[in-house]
Amino acid sequence: MMFRFAIVPLLLALNFSMCKKHETVSQNSQPSSTSSPTPAAPVAAASPKITKPVVDQTAQTIIFCYHRLVDKIHYPGTEITPAAFEGQMKELKDRGITVISMQDLLAWKRGEKNIPPRCAVITFDDGWKSQYEVAWPIMKKFEYPFTMFIYTEGVRGGSLGGGEAITWEQLADMRDNGVDIEAHTATHQDLREGHNIMLIASGGKRTKTKLNGPQYEQWMQNEVVGSKQLLEQRLGIKVNCFAVPFGSYNEHVKEIARGAGYEAMFTVYGQPITFTSPLDSIGRYAIEANKPKVFEDALKMIGTSTGGAAAVAEVGAKDLATQPADGETVRTALPLIKANLSGIGQIEPGSVQMRVSGLGVVPASYDPKTGTVSYQVTQKLREKSCSVFVSAKSAGKKVEAHWTFGIEEGAAARPAATTATPKR
Ligand SMILES: [Zn+2]
Repeated sequence: MMFRFAIVPLLLALNFSMCKKHETVSQNSQPSSTSSPTPAAPVAAASPKITKPVVDQTAQTIIFCYHRLVDKIHYPGTEITPAAFEGQMKELKDRGITVISMQDLLAWKRGEKNIPPRCAVITFDDGWKSQYEVAWPIMKKFEYPFTMFIYTEGVRGGSLGGGEAITWEQLADMRDNGVDIEAHTATHQDLREGHNIMLIASGGKRTKTKLNGPQYEQWMQNEVVGSKQLLEQRLGIKVNCFAVPFGSYNEHVKEIARGAGYEAMFTVYGQPITFTSPLDSIGRYAIEANKPKVFEDALKMIGTSTGGAAAVAEVGAKDLATQPADGETVRTALPLIKANLSGIGQIEPGSVQMRVSGLGVVPASYDPKTGTVSYQVTQKLREKSCSVFVSAKSAGKKVEAHWTFGIEEGAAARPAATTATPKR
C-alpha cells in the first residue's frame, strides 16, 4: 500500500496533546505588531540616500507545484514521470526562463533584490520520498533551487507518514544543501471552519467531526502555527511561506497565517506573479500527468520570446528620490524636476533622457558624479498634473521611470523657494 493519505482530503488527524503544547509556545513567540510606525524624519530635502537597489518591476515569475515522481502513473492527479519532469526543467532552460529561489522571489517583492525579466520557481508539495530520490538529482543537474512544502504529520513516522513519505533525515540533508523547506500545515486538511475534520487520537483511532469556535481555533493553531514551529525547531530553519492544502482558504485562514508570521501564502490557482501580486494568495501551477497542457499554458503566460533586446525595465519613482515626489502637489508652475539614478547602476553616458508632459523632451542635465538628472522648468506648466518620464541605458538595457505630480491651481509662474505640500 504505497498510497499515502495526503491525496485524500478526509483521512486526517490531530493530536490534542501536541496541540496544547504548541499553543503555549505560540503565545510567547507571536511576532509583535508588524508595523511599528516609523517616526517621520525631519524633512530636510537634501538628496536622500538610496538604500535599496532599484528593482525591475516588470519582471514576472511563474511558480510550479509538483507532487510525486513515479515511472508508472497510478494517480495522474498528483503524479508525473521523471522523464516528463526533466523535459519540463529543460524546457525552462531552453526558453530562457530563469529558475530562481522562492526567497529571491520574496526579496524582489520586498524591493531588496533584482530578478531576471522572466523567472520560474519550482515547488514540491507534501513531502514524498521520490522528491528526495528522483526530483532532487534532476534539480541538481540543472542547478535549480527549489522549495519543499511539508505537512509535518506526513513526514515518515508521523501519523500520516507512510512508506513513501520523506524522512526528517532526508529533509535535513536537503536543508544542508540549500533546499528551502516551508510549511503546508500539520495534517493537510481543508482549513476553513465548518468542514469535516479527521482527528487521530494518540492511540491511532480516527474520528471525523466538525469543530467550531474555540475547538476549531485550537485545531487551527496547531495546523498553521504548530506546523511552522515544528519545522523550525526540528530543522533549525526559518519558515516564512505557507502553502494552503487544496488551495482552500478564507479571510480567517489568511489572518491566522499572517499572525503566525508567514510572509507569503500559496494556492494552486496558477497565474504569473508580478511585482504587485498580493503576497497572501500567490498562485502556483500544479503540474500533473493528466493535464499536460498546464505547463505549456503557464509558459505562454509570461511570453516566449527569447529576444529581450527591446525590453524596458520599469523602476519605481520612489527609488529615484524624485523631486517633486510622485503624488506631491507643488505651488509653482515652474518646478525644478530632479531624479537620482545612482541606484540603477552604471549609466551609459548620453543615454539619459527626460520627457515632461506638455513639454516633450526637455534639455535636462545629468551629473554622472551624483547620478542626478535635473531640469528647471522655464515654461509655465498649464495642466493641473504633470507626468515626467526619465529613461537611461544601463548595461545595454533601457530603464525607465515615470511619475506624476500636481500643480496647485493658480500657482505662481515663478520658481518657488519653498515648494511642496505633500499630498495626503
Ligand atoms: Zn498538499
